[in-house]
Parts: sequence; structure tokens; C-alpha cells
Amino acid sequence: MDHFDVVVVGARVAGASTAMLLARSGMRVALLDRERYGTDTVSTHALMRAGVLQLSRWSLLPAVADAGTPAIRRTKFHYAHGQSVDVEIRPSPGVPALYAPRRFLLDRLLVDAAAEAGAAILPQHAVTSLLHDGDRVAGVRARDPQGRERRLRAQVTVGADGLRSTVATASGAPVCRQGRTSGAVLYRYFAGLETAGYEWAYGDRAAAGLIPTNDGQTCVFVGTSPQRMRTLRRRSGGEGAFRALLGQACAELPERVATAVPVSRIHGWAGIPGHVRQSWGEGWALVGDAGYFKDPITSHGITDGLRDAELLVDALLSSLSGLVPEREALGCYQATRDRLSLRLFAATEAVAAYDWDPDDIRHLVREVSASMGEEVEHLQGRHMAHAVP
Ligand SMILES: Cc1cc2nc3c(=O)[nH]c(=O)nc-3n(C[C@H](O)[C@H](O)[C@H](O)COP(=O)(O)OP(=O)(O)OC[C@H]3O[C@@H](n4cnc5c(N)ncnc54)[C@H](O)[C@@H]3O)c2cc1C
Repeated sequence: MDHFDVVVVGARVAGASTAMLLARSGMRVALLDRERYGTDTVSTHALMRAGVLQLSRWSLLPAVADAGTPAIRRTKFHYAHGQSVDVEIRPSPGVPALYAPRRFLLDRLLVDAAAEAGAAILPQHAVTSLLHDGDRVAGVRARDPQGRERRLRAQVTVGADGLRSTVATASGAPVCRQGRTSGAVLYRYFAGLETAGYEWAYGDRAAAGLIPTNDGQTCVFVGTSPQRMRTLRRRSGGEGAFRALLGQACAELPERVATAVPVSRIHGWAGIPGHVRQSWGEGWALVGDAGYFKDPITSHGITDGLRDAELLVDALLSSLSGLVPEREALGCYQATRDRLSLRLFAATEAVAAYDWDPDDIRHLVREVSASMGEEVEHLQGRHMAHAVP
């Protein structure tokens, strides 16, 4: 049996950041994932200001830029009837520009930083159930790459295991807020596509985005309601649905995208409504999508995962050191997460309904931007406890 202060299940943005920050503070941490090290995942990976700020505060932004991730200095919004709005992304302390690193790059960077800080990294370990001491969660049972059962005991078990979290299910974490809307997405990578920076388009019950990323490629996504996506795919296949939605989101996009070279297959996401879960209990906590998931149309899940990793780590450090009772520390973690999240959760619900008209969507996009402001202020106001020692 292995013993740790904290076992973290899920080694992507939320889990790897949590493990890294705990290990940098001297905690004995194990970081498990059922996948291999360095794999990709379904995501269009655009970071918003607070996400870039976190990478910068943790001394990881230079590695993102050094990997050739392009700096994004403008955002262009396309609306109905050919109208558009150009916004400069003004540099602020720690945020020289925005970035959209591929997930196989960003997640690996965070896992490497956790390993460098001393966390035990256990890829290809699938957690099957939780260990208990009475009512208290006391670690995990996992299957190792050879199919053997391995038990890892810990004072706290963190579920950073995504939308269908095993830790959330096994700990019985109740859903406090259930979303009602969801969007379906198709995305694909193109080479040789000129962009103004991030470009977001909102048209006839369809949205699209252009997201410049590594290797000179641009991720192009289209989104609509799941029902409409199913109809379009049945009628015209993935390629036809992608082209049709691109044109419905913004008339100029099909022609621009047709000049570029597709360099990947089309990836699909069928759409799942958001949720906010109770994210702690005796001996366990949730972070990232495991605790709080919203539709990807507002491109904010990674940024939230990076933010909430730090909120959770501060709570764990104060409770594990005996400074604050666990119940109080973790309750405060959840309250702060919710205070910084619920306005965006509501705005995302409205955008993902795909029932807006041109005036509604402009108003909603302004609401989405406004709801991101408070978290940046919150993070900027924090001290730099978690930079590389
Ligand atoms: C189509 C789409 C586009 C998106 N685009 C954006 C975007 O542009 N910008 C943005 O910020 N966000 C975006 N998101 C959201 C973002 O991808 C997620 O919010 C983010 O990946 C959540 O990170 P996480 O670390 O919480 O969980 P995940 O990335 O889901 O990672 C969970 C990990 O847990 C592991 N795991 C699960 N169960 C177990 C188990 N039992 N044992 C061991 N390991 C386990 C999995 O293998 C996985 O590696 C998008 C999402 C989708 C679906």
C-alpha cells in the first residue's frame, strides 16, 4: 500500500495543476490518469485572460510561448448582416497576450511541472473505487497498466477526473445546479488560414470560431443545437454539416476557410448540459469539470480549471497543516469558486440555447465578457505563493 498526503485522479489541466501546486508546497502527492502520458483530448483549447495569468504566475507561460504557440493580440466578433467588432487584447501584468496551446502540449507541461516538483506521476492507472476509513474517504483503488489492483491511501482524494468523474459518483457528490441547454460542436485544424486573432461568429442559430494554435495551424469550430447538428449530419455528413454551419454562423467564413488546407479529421462533440456539484466532503474534493462543467461555447473550462486548482490547493494546505478545519477550508473553496463562476454559468446557458436573435447575442457576448472580469481581479490580487520556489 502507498501512502500520500493527497491523491489526485485525472492528470489534465485541473488535476496536474493541483498536483503541481501541492508538490511545490512540499506535500506528498500522487497524480493518476487512466490515459497514457502526453495524449490529446477533445477541446478547442482557447485560453482566456485568467488562464494565461495563472500560467504566468506559475512560471509556465514562457514554455507555452517557446513551444511556438502564437500570441493572440486581437479578438474579432462577427454578427449577423456582416457586422463585426474588433477588440484589442490589451497587455496586463502577467498577460502579454492570449494563447491557445494544444492540449497535448499544455497538459504535458503541467504534468512535467508536477513531476519536477516531486509528485509521483502514474499514467495508465484507472481508478475503480474509493477506499474508506468509516465514513471518510481514505484514498483510491486503481488498476495499473498490467491490470493489477493498486491501493493508494491519502488524507485527501481529489477528483479532477472530468465530466463523468468516478470520484464524484463514488463519493455521492450531489448536483447543486443542473444546466438545461447544450450545444453540439464540430472542429478541425487547418494550415494556411489567416486570422485577425481569435474570431468568434454568431449567426442564424449557429456559432463558429477561429483559434490560432501551434504549428501554424488554426482550429476552426462550428456549433449549434444538438438536434440541428443531428439533422445536418444525417442529411449531409460531417463535412457537409461543418460547411453549412460555417456559412450560417458568418457568410464570409466558408470562402476564407476554403483557401486553407485541412490537416486533421473533423472532431465531434454531441453536447451535454452543464452542472455544478457539491465539491467536497470528508476526505475528498472535486476540481475542474468534475465539480463544475459548462457548455464549451464560451471557451472557459480550461481557464476555470487552472483557477480552481489554486483555490482548492490553498484550502487543502490550510486544512492539512491544521490551521483551518477541513470543513471550513473546503466550504470556503466551493463558495469562492461559485462566486466567481455562477454569472458565467448563467450566461453560457443562454448562449448554448442557440435561440438568440442578433440583438440578444450581442448582449449575451457582452455579459460573457463582463462575467470574466471578477476572476481576473481576484487572481491578480493574490500573492505569488505558488511560483517555482
Ligand atoms: C468540444 C469542446 C471544446 C472545448 N473548448 C474549450 C476551449 O476552447 N477553451 C476552454 O477553456 N475550454 C474548452 N473546453 C472545456 C475544457 O476542455 C474542459 O473544461 C477541460 O478539459 C476540463 O479539464 P479537467 O482537467 O477538469 O478534465 P479533463 O480534461 O476532462 O481531464 C480529466 C482526466 O481524468 C482522467 N480520468 C477520468 N476518469 C478516470 C479514472 N477513473 N481514473 C483515472 N483517470 C481518469 C481522464 O483520462 C482525463 O485525462 C472544451 C470542451 C469541449 C468538449
